[in-house]
Amino acid sequence: MNNDYGAIVIGAGNGGLMAAATLAKKGVRTLLIDKHNIPGGSASSIHRGRFEFEPSLHELAAVGEAENPSYVRQMFDELGADVEWCIEHKELYHLYVPEEGIDFALSSDPKKLCMDLEKEAPGSAGPMMKMLQLAGEAARAFAYMGMKDYDPNKLDELFPHAKTLAGHTIKEVLDEIGMPERAQRIVSQYWCYLGATTTEMDALTYFRMFGGYLMFGAGMPKLRSHELSLALEKVVRDNGGEVWYNTPAEKILVKDGKAYGVRIGGKDYLCDNVVSNVYPDYAYSYLIDKEEVPERAVKLTNARELALNLFTVYLGMNKTGEELGFKSYSNFILNSTDSDFLVKQASDNRENVPAVIINCLNNVIPDCTPEGTSFLFLTGFFFGNGWDSIKPEEHQKEKERVAEAMIRRCEEALHMEIMPYIEEIEIASPVTFARFLGSPQGTPYGYRMNKWDNYIQRIVDKRLDEKMIKGLDFVGAATHGGDGYSPTYLGGYETAIEIVEAQKEKGEIQR
Ligand SMILES: Cc1cc2nc3c(=O)[nH]c(=O)nc-3n(C[C@H](O)[C@H](O)[C@H](O)COP(=O)(O)OP(=O)(O)OC[C@H]3O[C@@H](n4cnc5c(N)ncnc54)[C@H](O)[C@@H]3O)c2cc1C
Repeated sequence: MNNDYGAIVIGAGNGGLMAAATLAKKGVRTLLIDKHNIPGGSASSIHRGRFEFEPSLHELAAVGEAENPSYVRQMFDELGADVEWCIEHKELYHLYVPEEGIDFALSSDPKKLCMDLEKEAPGSAGPMMKMLQLAGEAARAFAYMGMKDYDPNKLDELFPHAKTLAGHTIKEVLDEIGMPERAQRIVSQYWCYLGATTTEMDALTYFRMFGGYLMFGAGMPKLRSHELSLALEKVVRDNGGEVWYNTPAEKILVKDGKAYGVRIGGKDYLCDNVVSNVYPDYAYSYLIDKEEVPERAVKLTNARELALNLFTVYLGMNKTGEELGFKSYSNFILNSTDSDFLVKQASDNRENVPAVIINCLNNVIPDCTPEGTSFLFLTGFFFGNGWDSIKPEEHQKEKERVAEAMIRRCEEALHMEIMPYIEEIEIASPVTFARFLGSPQGTPYGYRMNKWDNYIQRIVDKRLDEKMIKGLDFVGAATHGGDGYSPTYLGGYETAIEIVEAQKEKGEIQR
């Protein structure tokens, strides 16, 4: 064991942080590096005036209460990563589609949800019950597939509908269970959290998200997502790991199909395993010698489409959420409930923001801002290349134009005034995210899920897709679990455990 490290983790986003914390905790000599001066990637915080804004997290799935924990809380507890969690159990989301006369809150109480939906779309209570059963099964199946002792041969027996859900779109499954069209459109709007429409997204991925939020609520750390990142960073350091910021990886060293180190600041650091939280596109194009990049890796990354990218507006308000008129935490304001139409409108241009999600964080964490104030977080999405052509000198003005349109849209749909009470504002476009995260097109969502590239398919191909170079693993949104906090944490944890097991077998770690 003459190497400098057991593992070098490149990138301290969720996947990298969780991998590094787990590796260090389990006895692997770990170095974690990030090109930025703070950890977290998307999971961070922004200070403006007397406010601390949340930059990315609307809601974290799979946390659960202390007495009914799901896998995210369990992983943090196991590592000793201290987080004060707040959980929202009241509603899934409140949907506003003025053009279709929809103003509907999806209750987190299953019985109430069925009754409310029946009133809104007669004939939907029975299919909704069926959807809730399937959603519960999907959430449990997803957690099972992420476990160390996952046995694909037992999947059908334990979760008889999992493969069928994975092989069909949301729309196909909702049609099959007889959900009326209007009700389908109301219950399928989480699709924008996942980045693929109801006619392309597999139902397993969607249903597990729906079921997860219903069973375990929506988790938020008390002190913004930066609290999560700092808690994991502390686990790395407390267990003898090193964390270096302002440290971009210059090269992943690969020879004869095996990764053996990372070049940092012109110096080669040798290790047994490299874990990359950097997108495969970037790693294969810029960090690895061309002759060492497997042909299959190039084909796969080229075949995959990038998921959506986001535009955000963060507002520190000099009025409380209640004074402004917010009833719900997550408000989805859409031009239409047709997801294909929305994606078309938001593709390869930056004119339209056909969907805005507005969250009032004080509805979950009342004291997250000073007394008498509140924090609003607006998110819109774009697909494709609409922001590629923008000139640097146009960027600020364009950001302001889009932000104003989004704020006005919220004011109109929610019948409230926002503009006059803004004390602090920050805006991030896909260009901002691209610069900050280093992800292609600025997407924080990895690759778009669809029928040929869904979760089960990715699990089956995981060894082939993500382990094309020995000793090199990828973690983060651009891997098999896709985007989001819970999948990226789970992927980082699983990857670390596999490395630990392999190192134990070689006798390189004792505990
Ligand atoms: C506005 C917004 C809202 C979101 N809402 C939610 C939500 O409500 N719920 C949810 O579950 N998910 C949400 N997400 C998605 C979630 O934040 C991401 O999927 C997740 O954080 C991605 O984590 P990651 O592991 O891929 O790392 P990333 O966050 O992509 O971080 C990658 C890290 O790698 C570093 N890096 C890059 N290149 C190099 C290099 N060469 N050398 C060293 N370091 C490098 C970067 O600096 C960065 O720190 C949201 C995202 C955004 C942006």
